[in-house]
Amino acid sequence: MAKGKEHINLAFIGHVDHGKSTLVGHVLLQSGAIAEQQLSDGENKFRFVMDKLTEERERGVTIDLAHAKFETPKYEFTIVDCPGHRDFVKNMITGASQADAAVLVVAIDDGIMPQTKEHIFLARTLGINQLIIGINKMDLVKYDEAKFNALKDELGALIKTVAYDPAKVHFIPLSAFEGDNIKENSANTPWYKGPALVPALDEFSAPEKPTNLPLRVPIQDVYSITGVGTVPVGRIETGIMKKADNVIFEPAGKAGEVKSIEMHHEMMDSAEPGDNVGFNVRGVGKNDIRRGDVAGHTDNAPTVAKEFTAQIVVMQHPGVITVGYTPVFHCHTAQVACTFLELVQKMNPATGAVEEKNPDFLKTGNAAIVKVKPTKPMVIENVKEIPHMGRFAIRDMGQTVAAGMCIDIVK
Ligand code: GDP
Repeated sequence: MAKGKEHINLAFIGHVDHGKSTLVGHVLLQSGAIAEQQLSDGENKFRFVMDKLTEERERGVTIDLAHAKFETPKYEFTIVDCPGHRDFVKNMITGASQADAAVLVVAIDDGIMPQTKEHIFLARTLGINQLIIGINKMDLVKYDEAKFNALKDELGALIKTVAYDPAKVHFIPLSAFEGDNIKENSANTPWYKGPALVPALDEFSAPEKPTNLPLRVPIQDVYSITGVGTVPVGRIETGIMKKADNVIFEPAGKAGEVKSIEMHHEMMDSAEPGDNVGFNVRGVGKNDIRRGDVAGHTDNAPTVAKEFTAQIVVMQHPGVITVGYTPVFHCHTAQVACTFLELVQKMNPATGAVEEKNPDFLKTGNAAIVKVKPTKPMVIENVKEIPHMGRFAIRDMGQTVAAGMCIDIVK
């Protein structure tokens, strides 16, 4: 990988079998990230790429993203896995693979399917603001322009309902199978005047580092190092940490002065968003703080919520969610059981339109506004103030059952 290219995390989303894996395989191949001989023959020859990634994740291996990275002339992209793959939502929300942009794949023969809508809503909920729509399997309709335009219009209307601006989204006629309009415009679609997929990816903006937001460092681990003392370790999500800053860990409520900051065994005077740092704070002992605490400046401390209001999407729940349900919320590095206090309203997952006030229960596919009470103190922020700290996944029975964001806090 060339040094110095800006980095974008990219998600491929869309209904099952619409061609995401095939498309990813083709993009990796055409951008030189994998060689043809690495691919097996046969109809699904590109599919193995995503399957291999999934397999590795399921074995619990640290994700080797080496072959899920590719470069375009402008950026270096990392493909984060697709919704539906295990732990996608959890990884996105807890920051392990927060996507900056998404490619929505919709097959021309099926058109808009339930997961198409769900994923658009989910992409919005997860804060993905940049979108490309690939209308795939164009070979099946002989690259028909009228059919393309009809689906493009339907999709445009759909994404508008969740506040994506269709005028800013490229709709690209693709055949992931034949490789049309992936890197260069294809002779099979002479009527298409927009960019092919790879040039369109280069029109995305790289995420800006949120240096202007308050300092937030969710703690991943706490070490005790001889000669240094207690060293909490975490990634700076927002803001800047400098030596001699006064910081507080919440909800532990312990504060002190930053004595040293270290990254990759090198001392540094300040750290910024994206930096994984270990730092030593005067007067804070190993047992005073733990994973799930969040460090911030003493004069702008992380928010400990007594209760909060959240917007959620129920993704896969075998039963129903009612008042009193207490699953585990995964928010940054914290895992805290939270009780549903009130189901405020149910919304259409595709449009966000209110469908029912105070519903008796929620089930898979529902979107809703709910009130929630953590069973012990936890740091969570209003997503409108610090987006990076306001999202969570709800896990139960070993799977991610819902995802959401905090939209109001009772301190
Ligand atoms: P995913 O579930 O969205 O990842 O979809 P896959 O990439 O596994 O594709 C599902 C099926 O559609 C496979 O049999 C693919 O070979 C086929 N497929 C994918 N893209 C195209 C395409 O552009 N044209 C045609 N005809 N078939 C495709």
